[in-house]
Amino acid sequence: MDFINEYDPGMFPEDFKQEVIQLASNENPYPPPESVLNAIKSNLFKINRYPYPYYTELKTRISEYVGVDSMQIAVSNGASDLLRLVTDAIIEPFDKVYIPMPSYSMYLLFSILREANIKTEVFEGYYIDGCYERGKLAFLCNPNNPTGNCVKTKAVREYLENFDYVVVDEAYIEFSGKSTVKLLKDYENLIVVRSFSKFFGLAGMRIGYIIASESIAKVIEKIRNPFAISQLACISAIEALKNLEYYQRIARMIVEERERMKNALKKRYFVYDSDANFLLVKHEREDLVRELAEKGVLVRDVSGLDGLDGYHFRVTVGRRQENDKFLEVLNV
Ligand code: PMP
Repeated sequence: MDFINEYDPGMFPEDFKQEVIQLASNENPYPPPESVLNAIKSNLFKINRYPYPYYTELKTRISEYVGVDSMQIAVSNGASDLLRLVTDAIIEPFDKVYIPMPSYSMYLLFSILREANIKTEVFEGYYIDGCYERGKLAFLCNPNNPTGNCVKTKAVREYLENFDYVVVDEAYIEFSGKSTVKLLKDYENLIVVRSFSKFFGLAGMRIGYIIASESIAKVIEKIRNPFAISQLACISAIEALKNLEYYQRIARMIVEERERMKNALKKRYFVYDSDANFLLVKHEREDLVRELAEKGVLVRDVSGLDGLDGYHFRVTVGRRQENDKFLEVLNV
């Protein structure tokens, strides 16, 4: 396995002795609503039992939220696990897998593990303007991590026409409102991957799902670990789905803050347009991210990420005071 570059999760607060502001992992900076915390607390006594392995209620709630049939949903412990399950289910050795870069690095790792024939491509301005390839599986990230931009529906359709399967990773979709789920009625080969880690603020709980054709969802359900989502995680996700207004209000605050940060950063840096809860910033200094960390603000150094040219960091939109501190230590 020496040929595989390990996933670099960046710096975490636990790596530091002093308190730091965590703007490196694209988490929701706000805690879940009281009712989610209460649901977890009042079910603590159940942890001696296994969770119900079919996760029927969770899948039903997700299907209502998304507007599809519950048979089109498969769940597991995080979008990352679903990406792996999808690659396990689809890719055979030498299958052609297409990955536009820069993007979430797990697509590459999971495809390497399946011994795929991988084709990567860097688009002008990191903007996917269409599909110029054919193959077994294409990965699109909508909005894309780390650039923050969305793929136009017309381009997604072209990928769906040219590939046996297309994974659209919508981990950040609620910040953009530009989901590709509507394409499922026309395309059986679309697999949308979603997460409870971002909009729903449950990164520590580990819950993700896919929305796909019934037959694909069935395969993923068949090959996942039967108890992949813990009892308390499942309960928290169900309760979160009953609090959509709370999360929508927070998402609006985050989007507003994102634009405020972007306008401030733009005075000194090149900042990419973002449809997500983070911004990608181009800069000139190798030691900038380290210096920010020493001043108490963690952002993600994405310089050297496959396909990304020059020095860049990715900053998560935090709470207003955290963002102010970040802008202050950056001197903008
Ligand atoms: N997809 C993308 C694009 C991500 O950025 C992340 C998390 N950083 C994931 C998937 C994984 O999310 P989860 O926490 O649900 O495993």
